[in-house]
Formats: sequence, structure tokens, C-alpha cells
Amino acid sequence: SEILLEAKGLKKYFPMKKGFLRRTVSHVKAVDDLSFHVLKGETLGIVGESGCGKSTTGRLLIRLLEATEGEVIYKGKNILHTQKEEMRELRKELQMVFQDPYSSLNPRLTVGQILEEPLANYQLSPKKEWREKILELLQVVGLGEQAIHRYPHEFSGGQRQRIGIARALMLGPELIIADEPVSALDVSIQSQVLNLLKDLQQRFALTFIFISHDLSVVNHFCDRILVMYLGRVVEISSKKNLFERPLHPYSQALLSAVPSPDPRRKKDRIILTGDVPSPSNPPSGCAFHPRCPACMDICKQVRPALRHTADGEAVACHLYSE
Ligand code: SF4
Ligand code: MG
Repeated sequence: SEILLEAKGLKKYFPMKKGFLRRTVSHVKAVDDLSFHVLKGETLGIVGESGCGKSTTGRLLIRLLEATEGEVIYKGKNILHTQKEEMRELRKELQMVFQDPYSSLNPRLTVGQILEEPLANYQLSPKKEWREKILELLQVVGLGEQAIHRYPHEFSGGQRQRIGIARALMLGPELIIADEPVSALDVSIQSQVLNLLKDLQQRFALTFIFISHDLSVVNHFCDRILVMYLGRVVEISSKKNLFERPLHPYSQALLSAVPSPDPRRKKDRIILTGDVPSPSNPPSGCAFHPRCPACMDICKQVRPALRHTADGEAVACHLYSE
């Protein structure tokens, strides 16, 4: 399958200012030298604890945030330097579904108006066809026609997320970045929304980047998984390999917290001690070393490089350097 989007050496450093003169004293490396790709039609999961740079990464990819450095190649072209007008055109293809279905919908607009907005902005079809298009998409996401006249507050969390998904679909996107799309929802509702996303992927041949702190959610429908820690990639693997034999100790710890469907394959829970360190003052060497049960001397001094294996997988850990 062909590569749809590729990040190369992507960085986002936020300046930290101090004192009366607001001098920049240091930088928070929210995303630090990230490289990965997404194949057309696949779902790439991005996982890690909160504060590891997942959301920032999602926003950098479609320029809701501007990167400090690096490239984002979409369909063979670096889009980090494209002009405003061209970027506006690309936005049709690159859409985002946000975590919070409560705050991402304008409460003063009806659902019809919310879904009309992208059509009005881009004028892709004549106005007389808009209503039909909106009704069709409401159907697709499992909401009735009567939703068109109602306001976001009249819906449940799951229904609101369906509205957000319909909005992302209005312009016929290629890539959808879903940032924790079900974490604000009740567990009972989560799988309904995940199933909807899965159906939509088939139906519209979508490519997904699915951001989540929860590996069991990612397990539902990701093809490959990228594990992040403190702004960096620690492992990229197919879902199958990651779940069967995670290589990086951080991946192993995350996975040990996921309940196994087979009780005979009971895993020992690896408890991660301590919080994620602040990205403003990351640990030396391997950033995971203060929490790593396998930490060696070299880990405190030398940052492990991301090593690629022949089958397109990668891990950044001294346990796997030769
Ligand atoms: Fe643990 Fe060392 Fe590997 Fe880092 S490099 S994950 S500290 S073993
Ligand atoms: Mg986040």
C-alpha cells in the first residue's frame, strides 16, 4: 500500500519565558524528532500516557499548530510550507475529530447549521443540494433527520460525537485524525462509536490516525501502533506484534495493564512508578530510565536511537542495540 502521509523529524518546542523581561529561558520539547508514516487506508494508533505529545502531534500534522522543525509529506508534498490558499484546499482532505464533543460544537448553532458550515465555506456543491447532503450524513452516522433542527445540548455525549464525526465527513476527507474520540464517553457508548468509525472507514475508504491513552481502545481497530513517550517514538509495530511481543519496556508496561481476553495467558502487571516526567526537564539518556524496570548504566547517559527492523517496525531501547 502507498504512503499517504509521512512525518520527518517533526518537532514542536514551546518557549518557556521567565521574569520581568519574559526572556525565553528554555524550551518544552512537546514533540521531539518524530518520524513515521501512515499508509493509505490503514489506521495508525498513537498511544502513550497523557502529556506525551500525542495531541500536539495530531495538530501539527494538519497545521492546527505550526511545527518548529521537520516535514509533513502528504501525497508526496511537504505541506508545512504550503501557502494559505493551498492549505485551505488541503483541509478538505485532512479532518479532525476532537476528544470533547461538548466543547467542539458551537452551542448556538443547530446541527443543520453546524453541518452546513463546511459546505458554505468551500461551496463544493450548489446550495440547493446541501440539505440533502446533510440529511444523508446524519443517516450515515446513525442520527435521525429530525436532528437537523436541534441544538448540541439536546443530545447525549455519544450523539454529539456522531455530530462531530458527520462534520468531519462533510467535505469528503481522505485522512481523519481522531484525538481520543471516545475517552469522554461512557464505556457502554464507546464501542458503538468505535464501530461507527470502523464502518465509515470501510464505506468511505478513509485513512485514520487514532490517538488514545488507552491501548484496549486502540486494539479495536488499529493496524499499526506507534507508542510515544515524552515527545518521542519508542516503538512502532503492527498491532499483532505489539500485543503478542511488545519490545520496549514502556510498551510492555502499558500492555500489562490491558486485561487479557484469555485468562490462561495471565500477564504479570508491570506497575509504572512515578508520573511522566515534565517535558520541560526530561531525564538524561533514555527519557524512560527513571521508571524502567530494565534500566542499565548506559540508559542514564545515552539516548537510544530508533532502530528500524526489516519488517518496517522500530524500537528505541538499548536492550535491542547490538
Ligand atoms: Fe529501559 Fe534502557 Fe530501554 Fe530505556 S533504553 S527503555 S531505560 S532498557
Ligand atoms: Mg491529549
